[in-house]
Amino acid sequence: MKFGGTSVSRRHRWDTIGRLAAERAREEGVRVLVVVSALSGVTNELQAITAAAPGESLDARFDALVERHRAFCAELELDADTVLGARLAALRALSTDPRANTRDLPWQAEVLAQGELLSSTLGAAYLQSTGVPFGWCDAREWLDGVSLPNASPWAQRLSVNCRCAPDAGLQARFAAQPASLLVTQGFIARHADGGTAILGRGGSDTSAAYFGALLNAKRVEIWTDVPGMFSANPRDVPDARLLTRLDYAEAQEIATTGAKVLHPRSIAPCRDANVPMAILDTERPDLPGTRIDASAATVPGVKAISRRNGIVLVSMESIGMWQQVGFLADVFERFKRNGLSVDLIGSSETNVTVSLDPSENLVTTNVLEALSADLAEACRVKVIAPCAAITLVGRGMRSLLHKLSDVWAAFGQERVHLISQSSNDLNLTFVIDEADADGMLPQVHAELIRGGAMPVQEASVFGPSWREIAHGKPAKRTPWWVDKRDTLLAKAQGTPRYIYDLATVRARARDLSGIDAIDRRYYAIKANAHPAILRTLVEEGFGLECVSQGELDHVFKQVPSLSPERVLFTPSFAPRHEYEAAFARGVTVTIDNVEALQRWPDVFRNRTVWLRLDLGHGEGHHAKVKTGGVAAKFGLSLQRFDEFVALARTLDVRISALHAHLGSGIDDPQHWRGVYAELAGLADSVGTVETIDIGGGLPIAYTPDAEDFDLAAWRAGLDEIRAAYPRFALAIEPGRFLVAECGVLLLHATQVVEKDGVRRVGCDAGMNALARPAMYEAYHGIHNLTRLADADTMNCDVVGPICESGDVLGHARPLPRATVEGDVILVADAGAYGMAMASTYNLRALPAEDTIE
Ligand SMILES: *Cc1c(COP(=O)(O)O)cnc(C)c1O
Repeated sequence: MKFGGTSVSRRHRWDTIGRLAAERAREEGVRVLVVVSALSGVTNELQAITAAAPGESLDARFDALVERHRAFCAELELDADTVLGARLAALRALSTDPRANTRDLPWQAEVLAQGELLSSTLGAAYLQSTGVPFGWCDAREWLDGVSLPNASPWAQRLSVNCRCAPDAGLQARFAAQPASLLVTQGFIARHADGGTAILGRGGSDTSAAYFGALLNAKRVEIWTDVPGMFSANPRDVPDARLLTRLDYAEAQEIATTGAKVLHPRSIAPCRDANVPMAILDTERPDLPGTRIDASAATVPGVKAISRRNGIVLVSMESIGMWQQVGFLADVFERFKRNGLSVDLIGSSETNVTVSLDPSENLVTTNVLEALSADLAEACRVKVIAPCAAITLVGRGMRSLLHKLSDVWAAFGQERVHLISQSSNDLNLTFVIDEADADGMLPQVHAELIRGGAMPVQEASVFGPSWREIAHGKPAKRTPWWVDKRDTLLAKAQGTPRYIYDLATVRARARDLSGIDAIDRRYYAIKANAHPAILRTLVEEGFGLECVSQGELDHVFKQVPSLSPERVLFTPSFAPRHEYEAAFARGVTVTIDNVEALQRWPDVFRNRTVWLRLDLGHGEGHHAKVKTGGVAAKFGLSLQRFDEFVALARTLDVRISALHAHLGSGIDDPQHWRGVYAELAGLADSVGTVETIDIGGGLPIAYTPDAEDFDLAAWRAGLDEIRAAYPRFALAIEPGRFLVAECGVLLLHATQVVEKDGVRRVGCDAGMNALARPAMYEAYHGIHNLTRLADADTMNCDVVGPICESGDVLGHARPLPRATVEGDVILVADAGAYGMAMASTYNLRALPAEDTIE
């Protein structure tokens, strides 16, 4: 068990160490070796001593260290002279050691070793004083430093590796120790000359790993201040998930590319000796932590994403011949000469670009200048800095490319300098300008989950999110259908069948009605045009937004009392006669291009219209639902705004509102604030604008770990812009938000089939009833309503009866092992874009529909 500096600097933490070690010994019948670091800050202080200029007096620094340890003895209620007298004297003696004058390397090693010798001695004495029978041993009697042939004298003394092949002699010696609980030091080892050697960076983790390997330990536990390794740095990505199980290679890759929890050096010794590792949290010892071992079932997919800053790119253009032999040898020789190790490489016939990672190199201006000068003899050099390296880590990266399309899209908006894919198929790295990387991690992390590249549903690998660990799981609404299960089972005659809960529609409508900043609310009926839903929402004060003549006919037929003033018509590339019909009905017509005015001046002359704009960017849960930006067919480009306004004037067309709807399922509550501000900023130049319509697109939480949309933050953003532009009325037109949760799709299981290790639960409808999973890789919760409480589950693919490979409603969903033909399967959150997009493909009947209150 290894404990770091913060864990050994506080009394209550030592109580935890004693308790945990005793527990392990008792429960597992094992001997426990505790490896400790120095008290926090002490190693830095010792390093400052070794680095002080020769001749500079060290007395004050030594005195401060003595004082620090005496004070901690007092906190532990130990007598400093009895416990540490000899050690403190030895520390003090180093300041008057004749070697101190020259700061020679063996002396430096002695100085650096004092921190761990002191902390381990203190800890053993304290634990004994609390009644836990701890022994103490000197790590130098166990770990032998070995120096690598071309290592510098500095490295041979202060950055050594240790022999770590399992050693029967040491194992016997360990078993013969009188105490079954022992504390020893991290960071230090025996030099071949009998003196002290230092392990250097990551020293204590590495010491623990060496001990684990030598002694063939049952396990090496690294105790830290965080719950383990995460799928991203929780400081940047609060939704990052705890990684509960990794294999050595993945853990190595994650540690190397950014996670600071475990030093990458420490993994190889345990891997080679096949000793499992665990990363655990001293403050929260009951969390599962991260286990690293060889038996971890291989789960392909991205496990983590990291960002490294301060990356320097060196681009080298050959000035010699095409495919000049030896060009690479030439340039790499110069990196070696300047003591630089290269991280990533990209190459073409005439150019090689490499990256330098500052954590692996001393990349100073001087070093770079020397390197550039050196390289200039062999090629044209360009240095690009500062860059950031964003790395995706996980098994089978090359077979995941198809799931990374949204991630590529996220990078598409930035300038990517270099893409590198590691030859071990464990990582894919993008190098971009550091400034462009800000804010990217949460976005890319979310895209990885959404696109299925990060398989967070694999409970054997992905634990709780950081947010959940830090703040507790946010209380989610229990879905309405849990309480109405019996009613639903009774209604499940004749499936596929959609059932809509009108009370839920009303509740969502009221969430939005309570917001004062909004003057007009419309429901985008294309999400779900069921008559009972339309009537419910009209009763709740919503107008209706239609996108076709068919929708217009439908709403006036189903809600005959509806005033045309409460209806919007927002078509896309509709034929001329639909506009004429809409004007004839007296509904509000939105147009979104100049050409309509040019070709059909008579349709629009003297009319009042709303103008739909494309603000140049689209958002949303999938590329196919982004309705802004160059790739989208919707909206007038801002470049033609003036042209439109001028033409409208000549036709006496009055523009009474500006509108933008840029996508669907947009997670960022600040998106609408931005749209509102942009539209309001343009409105005055038109002169006749009364209303700003900021569209729909509000998301719902489809996946188990998504949080409910932050309506309070959304509203606060709107209030702010409303206050700045009180002269305009504000309109919204959500679809999904109002109706997605109200609807479930009920199916019956038809066949349960195993094939090549995959269990498939077949249902009596699939993509024909609900196209969203096939079309957008959308996630819908899937539950066996017949066996709702059955906790004995296994992962199944849920498929439909359509002759298409894409006819999959959900991948790897936990469903009861007992699921059989005839069970009722419920697909959740299917009220929006469910029935509305259903088809008779394969000549299967359309689903039935039903409502409940
Ligand atoms: C589809 C649509 C909406 C509703 O989108 P949701 O994401 O369902 O809220 C709003 N406005 C227009 C113009 C639309 O086409």
